[in-house]
Amino acid sequence: MTGNGQVSRIYDEVVKRNAGEPLFHQAVAEVFESLSVVLERYPHYADAGLIERLCEPERQIIFRVPWQDDEGNVIVNRGFRVQYNSVLGPYKGGLRFHPSVNLGMVKFLGFEQIFKNSLSGLPIGGGKGGSDFDPKGRSNSEIMRFCQSFMTELHRHLGEYTDVPAGDIGVGGREIGYLFGQYKRMTNSYESGVLTGKGLTWGGSQVRREATGYGATYFVASMLEAKGTDLAGKKVVISGSGNVAIYAIEKVHQLGGTAIACSDSSGYIVDEQGVDLELLKEIKEIKRGRISEYAEQRSTAHFVEGGSIWDVPCDVALPCATQNELSGDDAATLIKNGVLAVAEGANMPTTPEALKAFREAGVAFAPGKAANAGGVATSALEMQQNASRDSWHFEYTDERLAAIMRDVHERCSETAREYGKPGDYVLGANIAGFVKVADAMFALGV
Ligand code: GLU
Repeated sequence: MTGNGQVSRIYDEVVKRNAGEPLFHQAVAEVFESLSVVLERYPHYADAGLIERLCEPERQIIFRVPWQDDEGNVIVNRGFRVQYNSVLGPYKGGLRFHPSVNLGMVKFLGFEQIFKNSLSGLPIGGGKGGSDFDPKGRSNSEIMRFCQSFMTELHRHLGEYTDVPAGDIGVGGREIGYLFGQYKRMTNSYESGVLTGKGLTWGGSQVRREATGYGATYFVASMLEAKGTDLAGKKVVISGSGNVAIYAIEKVHQLGGTAIACSDSSGYIVDEQGVDLELLKEIKEIKRGRISEYAEQRSTAHFVEGGSIWDVPCDVALPCATQNELSGDDAATLIKNGVLAVAEGANMPTTPEALKAFREAGVAFAPGKAANAGGVATSALEMQQNASRDSWHFEYTDERLAAIMRDVHERCSETAREYGKPGDYVLGANIAGFVKVADAMFALGV
């Protein structure tokens, strides 16, 4: 951790107080790096314990989630909801179901969410939740019973003006349905705005499913435009094959680029003809199968077991899988192969070493809090529709998303310029996100 003394001291305190939570430390360090520059110019941002308050979640909820598997065994998982900061609006952020989930991971994601949500320009605070439940290989009924048990406890902490979860890794439309159903049963009220990512027939928004991937691609289009070019004819490598990756591929193709590779935890496929989206959706969204099946069914593609997808030469790289998936070595390979732009579709997929390498090589790099803000922004659009009992068309919602992403890009670029670092999206995103939250925290008092 570098930067001015005050920031380093607070960072050391954060590490001490949150021992054993390296992902959380990493997320804080990345933001603090940019804060040093702000404090040099505006020292008052360190007043009133503001930075210390920002680092400590307003509330952290940990709860037991007991449920029965199909054989009748009782399994106990742990549930989390970190209600991080509500100065701009109700806590807002997804739920992640994955065996690696622990309090430190939820805090890292919740901390990122504060700045991302601020940057979106919409009135939403930051929060995150999840469970160490592993959905892999579980039947539909098991998923339903787990979601019902999870919500039986969590419902008392939620509300459309209090805390509004959505999906993240392991939580899609099906899970949101079971969670919403249980919330409705527990509260005896049809409070649509309490969860986002709902189905289209019961309060969901058009484009929400597509929003994170579409938004990341819109952001990349703006980055390329700032470099005097565009996506037409560009080769794009996209890690992951979940919701974010699939819809990033769709939008890349719509904007004239070619997505040539994607992955899952078993390995990656390369298809120089461009990923066949219908086939990918069938394998991943309908059958919930493995990515290797893609290569089995398409002669232009090959599957690489394990390995790094970042070995595939490309003009644009979109890490859309999970945190710390793109290492310093991967960054060196991408740079050697002439990558022009990198944008994080996932949350913090780039390691600090890789980030440093991209910055030194002058590669345009967009952090997740800017590039993947389209998902949560469209969640806020879903909340707007729920509050006004309205339902917008696809085209209109997509236009709103595109405009929001252009604004996020503008906010980051403008702020980076203001601080004498044009093109530094990390600095721009961190500072623009922080300043709005900080000003509101001052206004609302301690
Ligand atoms: N999980 C998504 C994110 O990381 C979306 C959260 C939401 O829509 O509330 O931003």
